[in-house]
Amino acid sequence: TPRVLVAGETLVDLLPERSGPLDRVERFVRRPGGAPANVAVALARLDEVPWFWTRLATDPLGDFLGRTLDAEGIPGRFVERDADARTTLALVTHDEDAVPTFSFYRAEGPDARFEPGTVPDDALDAVDWVVFGGVVLSTGAGWRALLDLVRRARERDCTVVFDPNARPELWDEGEFARAIDEVLPLVDVVKASPDDLELAGFDAGLDPEALARAVCGRGPHTTLLTLGGDGSIAVAAADAPWGPAERAHPGYAVDAVDTTGAGDAFLAGTVAALAEGRSLEEVLGFANAVAARTTTGSGAMTALPDRGAVEAFRDRVGSKTTEERD
Ligand code: ATP
Repeated sequence: TPRVLVAGETLVDLLPERSGPLDRVERFVRRPGGAPANVAVALARLDEVPWFWTRLATDPLGDFLGRTLDAEGIPGRFVERDADARTTLALVTHDEDAVPTFSFYRAEGPDARFEPGTVPDDALDAVDWVVFGGVVLSTGAGWRALLDLVRRARERDCTVVFDPNARPELWDEGEFARAIDEVLPLVDVVKASPDDLELAGFDAGLDPEALARAVCGRGPHTTLLTLGGDGSIAVAAADAPWGPAERAHPGYAVDAVDTTGAGDAFLAGTVAALAEGRSLEEVLGFANAVAARTTTGSGAMTALPDRGAVEAFRDRVGSKTTEERD
């Protein structure tokens, strides 16, 4: 049985064929997506096949997503099908710095119809890790279902891992910060970017280490921050199973083609390495490599590497030295 359970949305990303403002785009490429789906597939490709609790519509795009998860070897036990839903679409546009923004089309989306209790206690007894993200929390049903899952996972000593995945357009003013306030005390490990945390109400003026410490001060014992081309850092508090620590890894120098999903790849690398009992230092190096390798191909899920590709990449590229941090 899997050691990891991932929970959350699977959707279709529509990527403009050419960059530019959305009102000028004529053609889109259809790609499977959704941050938790990317994480689940990334874990599977890293040989850490997880259970994935997600909900797909029964429409043709839902069939496409279902086939995709199947082909990646994701077990179907918690992949629900919903005849009364329509597949959520996310239009992904990139600014000049290749930073993605997302426009969601999710009226009648299946993520707003999650039901508590779909994953029974015995499944939570079987896994050690539960991974979820912030997008699904923006629907009332998603919030109730996921928080119920997390509470039961905590009672069973699972390590609960959370990615806030800030998406401003899904939340009313101030709502995201309130949601994060409520979630942080319930989770053990947070993976975030400084932008996520700024939207969650953290002081944007803090340096990354101070920001990560501030997150740990709200409940999680470990916080990892991704810093784009500058790699990542981790702060673990005294109550972390791997002991108190502050670590940084400068990342890998690559020509990034598409950074969509880099954070998801990083999270999967983190969970895979932690589940193997690696040190925080090794975790950062491995997760940075999985993420950097992902940015060298286009499409969030499509570009995810398998373990062999990550190893070949590390041999070939070699990590930056700290002085090379841009
Ligand atoms: P997303 O929301 O697109 O999934 P994110 O904003 O959460 O991403 P980033 O900090 O942009 O996450 O990137 C995650 C990781 O990907 C970084 O920690 C780094 O390892 C890798 N990465 C991202 N951009 C680059 C880059 N330009 N060069 C090398 N590595 C990169």
